[in-house]
Amino acid sequence: MAHELVNTSVLSQGRAAVYEEPIGPAGVRIRERPRSRPAPGSVAVAIRAASINHLDLWLAHGAQRVTPPRVIAADGAGVVQESGDPSWKPGDEVVVFPTLCDWECESCRAGENVRCPHFGVLGEHSDGAACELIHLDARSVFRKPAALSWEEAAAFPLTFLTAWRMLMTRAQLKADETVLVIGAGAGVAVAAIQIARHIGARVLVTSRSEAKRKRALELGAEAAFESSSFSKAVRAATGDGVEVVFEHVGPATLDESMRSLAMGGRVVTCGSTSGVKAEVTMPRLFFRQASLLGSTMGNASEFEAVLQAMDRGLRPVVDSVYPLDEVQAALTRLDAAEQFGKVVLSVSAG
Ligand SMILES: [Zn+2]
Repeated sequence: MAHELVNTSVLSQGRAAVYEEPIGPAGVRIRERPRSRPAPGSVAVAIRAASINHLDLWLAHGAQRVTPPRVIAADGAGVVQESGDPSWKPGDEVVVFPTLCDWECESCRAGENVRCPHFGVLGEHSDGAACELIHLDARSVFRKPAALSWEEAAAFPLTFLTAWRMLMTRAQLKADETVLVIGAGAGVAVAAIQIARHIGARVLVTSRSEAKRKRALELGAEAAFESSSFSKAVRAATGDGVEVVFEHVGPATLDESMRSLAMGGRVVTCGSTSGVKAEVTMPRLFFRQASLLGSTMGNASEFEAVLQAMDRGLRPVVDSVYPLDEVQAALTRLDAAEQFGKVVLSVSAG
C-alpha cells in the first residue's frame, strides 16, 4: 500500500502535532500551519479534541514508512467553522470518519469504503486530526452524538468503527454467543468489550496486566485470564469454547486463540502487534470448521451504526486527557502500555 498522501482534500491547519522525525514521541512536535478557507465540497472543522492510537506511535517510531512531516491522529471531533458544502453549516457539532476514501468509485458507491482503491487512514495516508482546524470532504464528517463530551466524541471513532466491523459485520457476533477479547487494555479491545456487552453477548478477556483484567471485569466481562496459555481456562469456563475470538496481537496469541474456539467458531483480527507472521495449526482450522477473518477500519454505514449505538448509551472509555501541546507526554503514555481505553488530546475550548 502506498504510504504517501492519497487524499488531498484533508488539510490540517493552525497549531498541529506534526510527526517530523522517526525517533518516537520526541519526534512529534507542535508546529503552526497556515489557515485557509475550505474548497467547494469541503468543510473546515475547528477541532475540540483528538485522540491518538498505536498507529501514531508506530508512525513516530518510523515503522509505517510515512514520509514526514505528517500531522498525526485518526480521531477528532469539533465544530464546523465554515462549510463549502450545503450539507453542513457553521456551528454544527461533528465527529470525523477516520477511513479515507474517494467516495466516488464503484466500491464507495456500493457502500464498501474499505475496498476503495484510495482507501487509507486519516493521520497515516493524509494529515490527521491533531490540529486546531481541519479541512475534510463534507462526506467525511458525521453528526456528533449529543450526549458525548468532546473528549468522548474524539475517543471512539477509529477503535469503535474497527471493533464494530470486526464483531458485527465480519464475525457476526450474536447476543447468545460468547466472545473472547485478547489483550484487553488496547483501545480497540476495550471498544470490543463494550460493543459485545452492548448487544448482550457474553465476554471473556485476556490481559497481561492484573489492573487491566480488573477494569475489563468492571466493564462487564465475565472472566479475565492471563495472556499466556489461556485456552484451557477458556474451555473450562465455556465447555466447548467460544464462538468468536477478537484478535489484534497475532503470533504471540493466535495458537491459543484458535484453541479457544468452539466448533464452527470465528477468529477475527485487525492487527498483529507481536509480529507479522504467525503459524496456524491447520487441523484446528478445518476439523473444527473454524474461520479466520481479517478486517480493517470500517465503512460509513458501520460508522452510522456506531453513532446510533452511542445514542442508545454506548460510551468510549477515556483513559486520560492531555493538552495538544503535551502530545509527546500523551504518546509516551501509550508507549508505556499503561493505558486502559483512549488517550485524548484536548485541542481547544472553542
Ligand atoms: Zn472509493
